[in-house]
Amino acid sequence: MDKNTIDRVAEVIVPFAVKGTFSYKIKDRDLPLATIGMRVEVNFGKNKIYTGIIKSLRQQGEDEILKEINQFLDPAPIVSPLQIKFWEWIAGYYLCSIGQVMNAALPANLKIQSETKVKLSPFYQEDLPGLSHHEYIITESLNEQGELSVKDLQAILGMDSISHIIKNLINLRLIYVKEKASDKYKARIETYITWSEEYAKDLSLQEMAFELCKRSDRQQKALLFFLENADQDQKLPRRVLSKQNGLDSSVVKAIVKKGIWKLEDIALSRLNTDVEETLEAPELSDNQKRALKEIKNHFKTKNTCLLHGVTGSGKTQIYIELIKEVLKREEQTLYLLPEIALTTQLVNRLQLVFGEQVFVYHSRLNQQERVELYKRASEGKGIFIGARSSIFLPFSRLKLIVIDESHDSSFKQQDPAPRYNGRDAAVYLAHICGAKTLMGTATPSIESYTNARQGKYGLVELLERFGKVELPDIELIDLGLSYRQNRMKQQFSKKMIDGINDCLERKKQVIVFQNRRGYAPRLQCQSCGEHQSCPSCDISLTYHKYKNTMNCHYCGHSEAPLTTCKKCHKSDMKIKGFGTEKLEEDLSILFPDATIDRMDMDSSRSKKAHARIINKVESGEVDILVGTQMVSKGLDFENMEMVCVANADQMIRFPDFRSGERAFQLLTQVAGRAGRRGKKGRVFIQSFDIEHPVLKEVLNNDYHAMYEREMQERRMFNYPPFSKLIRIQLKHRDNSTLTKASHLLKQALLSNIENGVMGPAIPAIGRINNLYIQEFLIKLPLQAAYVQKVKRFLQKTESWLKKQDGCSSVRVILDCDVY
Ligand code: ADP
Ligand code: ZN
Repeated sequence: MDKNTIDRVAEVIVPFAVKGTFSYKIKDRDLPLATIGMRVEVNFGKNKIYTGIIKSLRQQGEDEILKEINQFLDPAPIVSPLQIKFWEWIAGYYLCSIGQVMNAALPANLKIQSETKVKLSPFYQEDLPGLSHHEYIITESLNEQGELSVKDLQAILGMDSISHIIKNLINLRLIYVKEKASDKYKARIETYITWSEEYAKDLSLQEMAFELCKRSDRQQKALLFFLENADQDQKLPRRVLSKQNGLDSSVVKAIVKKGIWKLEDIALSRLNTDVEETLEAPELSDNQKRALKEIKNHFKTKNTCLLHGVTGSGKTQIYIELIKEVLKREEQTLYLLPEIALTTQLVNRLQLVFGEQVFVYHSRLNQQERVELYKRASEGKGIFIGARSSIFLPFSRLKLIVIDESHDSSFKQQDPAPRYNGRDAAVYLAHICGAKTLMGTATPSIESYTNARQGKYGLVELLERFGKVELPDIELIDLGLSYRQNRMKQQFSKKMIDGINDCLERKKQVIVFQNRRGYAPRLQCQSCGEHQSCPSCDISLTYHKYKNTMNCHYCGHSEAPLTTCKKCHKSDMKIKGFGTEKLEEDLSILFPDATIDRMDMDSSRSKKAHARIINKVESGEVDILVGTQMVSKGLDFENMEMVCVANADQMIRFPDFRSGERAFQLLTQVAGRAGRRGKKGRVFIQSFDIEHPVLKEVLNNDYHAMYEREMQERRMFNYPPFSKLIRIQLKHRDNSTLTKASHLLKQALLSNIENGVMGPAIPAIGRINNLYIQEFLIKLPLQAAYVQKVKRFLQKTESWLKKQDGCSSVRVILDCDVY
């Protein structure tokens, strides 16, 4: 073959924010491996190494001088061309580099680089046989020093190219990659009892064992128990044995000491945990059958379908039926959830039906398990449950994506890039995989519902609860009136207190809900409830403590805090914003005999803590559960009769054009926790503004009214779905540099974008980590070609801005479809 026509240059994706790929030459010996999707080690700068992925191959230009790829890391590609296409789409749509997408998509173990820190795993033992010289030096160095970066190890070995050695040690489970967030190796390890090598080989020895232990009843009993209960591999968890009367660890030790047994630590996979038995899913009700049929009909002509079903209508049951059919065809399902930590109940439910075919992708998997799950996905089988990042698993036969609670804002990644919306990216993923997407929710996002109305998505509605359980009765309580009549104790009206007392007396449980966003400080009149709000944006201003100003998040308007109310002219303005902790405290004073627990980000950071609280509520140990958004999602408690919303104003007035939609979603979801099984529940909502349209819509359970009203407002102010919203944030240590940069950017934006540029404005938190922040908001008309043009321009703003005098270290953050 002519030497010049061989594709010997690889365009490699490296995990940087810099746009595009980097060219490397392939060594002759590696040419047979040169394929798209291969993982390679490349040098960058002075002997820094990175893991990259080959995006494409091409011929070498005549005078082109290039660095070589150090080495290929696997025998076959680990990323498919389809995935690369998906990454490219995300980078283009969400305005980031493909390297940043790669970074989000690959498990840490698969992207070793100089800065990567590695540690010894608990499986390491000194003097392991069979290690190569290099492997030995690495493990010994780690043994002495605890943790080292790949760069340190390069220096220790005196070699540049060491990714293959690291990879090998990781595969042997001797070392692991330390992650930034959590450092602990949280393998689930189980100690097993098994025959010692000698005894395993020789059955007659096993009979002799009884003889050897004849002077101890307990040892004989232990041997017998082992024989009867060990699995096919002659292994028994020590835990199981020690549950038997009198068979504690001293018995086991004694038998081990005699050389009969040995103990083995085995790492359990957490990919599909604790599956005990499976059950047939219950039969669908007529209404559910109709919905399922409609969904399948839509799927004949449409790729996406929206299932709008009230809380408790049995959406999960419908998903299960669809998943069954996918499984029958040996195809894959991706089941997306807002926050995986909050879904213990759901995972249990799916595992009960699908058993070991269910894989859960969550942040607590260790690196090894993550890589294992990655492999499972590429093998083409199974149901994968996960939060947004599971869209990056390398599915090979993905045919169904279920997006549960599809309205939830946590599908959108805020930081770092890629700032993608998992819900919307999933629709694209389904499109390129030839899969169908089913979004399910009781409260569709305005955008999704609009798509359904316009016929882009199929629409199926399921507007009654399963088993004809009635939706709860909702009552609004006027806080202004209660205060004026002196019928308030702490933050609770007499009516609410009476309601709670009534529940407690009948041994029923109560949820008291407090929005997490309740902390955002606003100025409110104590007498009439009026907020200080923006003259041109119709939203509340946010109090900025360090400058003592009231600012608008959208247009940048800023003014001094008011001392008298504009509406009732009384001088009773107060900064408002209170949290769950304060509520818990107040409740314990009001209900000294009740057991109160709290569920929020602080109290249930770990999955265990979260599960513990759920258990306590399920078993009836808790009378009142105080909580944030966390209690609104998917929980189903038998004895929960009442839900109290201490203050809804913080939701309906939050400074965000989505606040109306969000308040409706949240209130409807929390209300849905009341009276789920058989019994009608009650909901109390306290507010200063009980005439607010959103509260009326919640009261009447009228999604459609909410939708129509929101659409009117959004049309008026040109918000999505009538426009596309892109945010540009600038950050810099020095406020005057930042102001200069945003002035320059504003000029550039105005001369390139015809309409809809707003800002610069200072966001609610104007300085984070010593960086000052200013931001622009761009509302683009919905014309694909024009949006494309603006996006291409925006992709270049950062490098353009950095070239301007004095602006070289200004950070530019782009966020498309702000949520
Ligand atoms: P959603 O997801 O719409 O909130 P769920 O699927 O959680 O609703 O169903 C609500 C309750 O009704 C659950 O306790 C569920 O087990 C029960 N349920 C729903 N459909 C059926 C059915 N066809 N047969 C028996 N129980 C059902
Ligand atoms: Zn404004």
